[in-house]
Amino acid sequence: MEISLLYSGVNALILLLILSSPYKIIQKPIDFGSLNLLPTTDMASTDFGRLQFNPPGSVLKPQTPEDISLLLSFLSSSSFSQVSVSARGAGHSIYGQAQALDGIVIEMGSLPLEIEVHKNGEMESGLSYVDASGGALWIEVLKETMKVGLAPRSWTDYLYLTIGGTLSNGGISGQTFKHGPQIANVLELDVVTGKGEMVTCSPTKSSELFYAVLGGLGQFGIITRARIPLQQAPKKVRWQRAFYDDFETFTKDQELLISIPELVDYVEGFVVLNEQSLHSSAVAFPAHLEFKPEFVRNGRFKVYYCIEFAIHVNQVESIHVEKIVKGISRMLSYMQSHLYSVEVSYLDFLNRVSMEEEILRSKGLWEVPHPWLNMFVPRSGIKKFMNFLMESISPNEFEGPILVYPLLSDKWNTNASVALPRAIETGKERIMYVVGVLRSINPAICKMDCLNQILHEHHQIAQAASRPHIGARQYLAHHPSRIDWHEHFDSKWTRFAERKAHFDPLHILAPGQGIFPRVI
Ligand code: FAD
Repeated sequence: MEISLLYSGVNALILLLILSSPYKIIQKPIDFGSLNLLPTTDMASTDFGRLQFNPPGSVLKPQTPEDISLLLSFLSSSSFSQVSVSARGAGHSIYGQAQALDGIVIEMGSLPLEIEVHKNGEMESGLSYVDASGGALWIEVLKETMKVGLAPRSWTDYLYLTIGGTLSNGGISGQTFKHGPQIANVLELDVVTGKGEMVTCSPTKSSELFYAVLGGLGQFGIITRARIPLQQAPKKVRWQRAFYDDFETFTKDQELLISIPELVDYVEGFVVLNEQSLHSSAVAFPAHLEFKPEFVRNGRFKVYYCIEFAIHVNQVESIHVEKIVKGISRMLSYMQSHLYSVEVSYLDFLNRVSMEEEILRSKGLWEVPHPWLNMFVPRSGIKKFMNFLMESISPNEFEGPILVYPLLSDKWNTNASVALPRAIETGKERIMYVVGVLRSINPAICKMDCLNQILHEHHQIAQAASRPHIGARQYLAHHPSRIDWHEHFDSKWTRFAERKAHFDPLHILAPGQGIFPRVI
């Protein structure tokens, strides 16, 4: 049953009755003082994954963090409301993590964009940093900080994601081996907890909330501002791709590269499965490739691997960089003569995925289902994991990249909420790989049965790889039940659950993660 409602100046009780009534379809804006709850939008019901569609009851477009606080204070003090609330950044989750079925989605992008750069001169002590609102996109932060020659140190591959969204997960890319994930590059946060309290927190002030929220999957509070340290932005980037036909040589060279952070600024890598993956991001990496691999040899598929590494170039350093690249390439064991190099602007380098986005959009292949699987795999299990993964993949049908690159455990703060493999948490191993199976589905070719089959396979791979013989953990995880979440967090579960009880006791926040059912 649909009801049209138009209230102006309703008091808290009436709002609560509306929200907790069975008739949750709100057709017209509800005025709640300064708080506007708007009709549900299609956007708030879906995300980049296009696998889950959960319409909320309504959408909040906050104008200030106080609006968020007002809503959460109200809901957390109303013992008979069942409403859940999800912050939505750019909605680039895969499995509905920012959705709230019948609840309220807070569109973080509607908070006024605030990006304030604080540049410290050489004579001043302390770091340069930027204060950015939780709904700001990383591309917006980059463009603003570059105006004064600065930039954050740690990135994701794609920049149209929000500060609050990536800090709720981890935020990793080719700089992570050197600077740690984005969650290890935060000085201070403003957070509205599940109880509606507005708290400024840092490693020394309300530190329990600070670390809870970092990698906390939106469970403990909503990030409305983050203070992020800055470094000098390089003018250009020297970017290399080297090809391999053997997995062990590929990973050995990746590990060599991450052992020389004083020379190298970025290390990633990907599996070259077919022509499409060979030419992936060819717009961003405009080198002419002489590499013409045989993808079928003696009737069997043959896969290759590509390492990407990059070195920042500052104005005076060009010649120096040339020497470094030569020196490093002599140490690597790539396939003879298959090292390619380009020099691009720093902005183009960091923004490389959006160039691919444009092409995929023009082919109608961006807004399609994305059954992604991301795993952190300890070094000791990476070969087994890759063998296992490749058994489920038909190289000629696969669309999208498979990323594989190493990260270092000592760049992660174990106080943060993010779950890492046990061997990494306990310090038994120092290197873990991230493997990102970033599959795009062409709906004209792969229909519902085929998509379900892929999802089933990914679930099985993730489950099997979590067992001790590989000991992997999902990144950007998706789990069907609380028991699975318990296993996911492993020794960190007790602390995770205690933090939830403390900061969001009624389990109002981030229902789309499916971890804690709403307390009624
Ligand atoms: P949303 O999808 O909107 O939200 C994600 C979760 O965070 C939800 O639970 C939501 O409730 C919560 N949340 C959102 N905003 C806030 C806030 N302000 N405070 C508290 N909780 C909040 N990840 C990497 O680490 N490295 C990559 O290189 C990378 N590349 C990507 C490329 C693409 C094309 C895509 C689609 C994703 C990529 N990701 C990558 C994953 C991405 O970091 C996560 O999906 C991230 O959550 C997306 O940010 P968002 O703003 O879209 O968050």
